[in-house]
Amino acid sequence: MQITFWGAARTVTGSMHEVDTGDKRYLMDCGLYQGRRQQSFELNSTLPFAAGSVEAVLLSHAHIDHSGNLPTLVRRGFRGPIYATPATVDLCHAMLLDSAYLQEKDASFLNKRHERRKSLLGKNNNNHPVTPLYTIADAENVLSLLQPVELHTPVEAGPGLRYQSYEAGHMLGSTAMVVESDGVRLAFSGDVGRPGLPIINDPEPMPKVDYLIMESTYGNRLHKPIEEVRDKLAAVVNRTAGRGGKVIAPSFAVGRTQQVVLMLHELMEAGQIPQIPIFVDSPLAVNATEIFRKHPGAFDAEARGFLERGEDPFGFNHLRYIREVSESKALNDLHGPYVVISASGMCEAGRILHHLKNNIEDPRNTVLITGFQAENTLGRKIVDRWREVPIFGEPVRLRAEVVKLNELSGHADQRELLLWLKPMADSLKKVFLVHGEPSQQAALAKAIREQYDLPVEIPSRGQSFSLE
Ligand SMILES: [Zn+2]
Repeated sequence: MQITFWGAARTVTGSMHEVDTGDKRYLMDCGLYQGRRQQSFELNSTLPFAAGSVEAVLLSHAHIDHSGNLPTLVRRGFRGPIYATPATVDLCHAMLLDSAYLQEKDASFLNKRHERRKSLLGKNNNNHPVTPLYTIADAENVLSLLQPVELHTPVEAGPGLRYQSYEAGHMLGSTAMVVESDGVRLAFSGDVGRPGLPIINDPEPMPKVDYLIMESTYGNRLHKPIEEVRDKLAAVVNRTAGRGGKVIAPSFAVGRTQQVVLMLHELMEAGQIPQIPIFVDSPLAVNATEIFRKHPGAFDAEARGFLERGEDPFGFNHLRYIREVSESKALNDLHGPYVVISASGMCEAGRILHHLKNNIEDPRNTVLITGFQAENTLGRKIVDRWREVPIFGEPVRLRAEVVKLNELSGHADQRELLLWLKPMADSLKKVFLVHGEPSQQAALAKAIREQYDLPVEIPSRGQSFSLE
């Protein structure tokens, strides 16, 4: 077996790893690279192999940085099966269509801006019309290739490659996987969750394997205990409401939004936060919440408790889900206090941009960051407290409070990653670290070498390794 790293190599997005069995080529994940616009477009649109030569894709979970370039793969000629859990398949329907919609909208925005400048300046600065990376039709073509496979069910993914998935505890439907070819067993962590996260099950112990490709997002971080997250959330809401301000929470539409909603539900029931309006303003989050309701089998005991009491974990008085653009815009005129949860999680697109633009200049308000913010994203600039941040190409003063809720991270910290690796440590010949920024990777590599005496590689993009 040979593996080649095409994405999430010394960075956190664009997860894509190639597995060659000699005569067949497989992909683990086919994610979207997210970062600077031009570089992202080039990396996402240029596949380093013929798409039609890929036998099958094994998809760890539905997050766009793991699934979001499937439409490009299909647009270029891939027609094989894409194996994923039933919840991931359902989520991909909503997420890939949403991603394609954003790609189309982004391209048309750029083209309109270009036309406007051209007519204002009376000259053409040689910019060709921008084409979207992929279209809604491309995304629709992915959907028929998705093959639901339950956790733990072994599948022949194609000639010479057996695949089996395990609970990764990172989001609804998320998996770590083991592939086996010619007696060599390779595990891929996907994204490893934190034990104790709201709603979803904890990551499960992995079987013994020869090699491991492992994420390292928080390889140099120790999260605060998850138990503290509710108190911290309550404090943020109380403090902001006390100022008459708004809590603006950029949040991944799938997973994080439902977790925040569930916790606000609990806090409001317990009287720990005031009875203020809470809005989930994201059509994707609304659709994703419906998909969550369809898969209670993947819930943990806490979320199942709501169902057993006949309550809806994702619905309560004071909570409103917003689909329509007009209703979303109407929020601009509504005085605080209120909470609005909106996507995208890294503030790169979607309705959150309007909420940020209209509210971050007011120091009564709070931007509540609930997830990881990659380098060069607007979310990262807000976390780093730039004095001014660019929104829709215009500088906006950042005067709102900024609070990070790192505890809710869907990613295990260093201690949790080391514990997750433990059941495999005896049999492993080598660990490959992916999905992390260099400083996080270096620290985790050191910790793995010290604790388990294992060789660790930090592959760069395009690097291949033979596994025997
Ligand atoms: Zn993920």
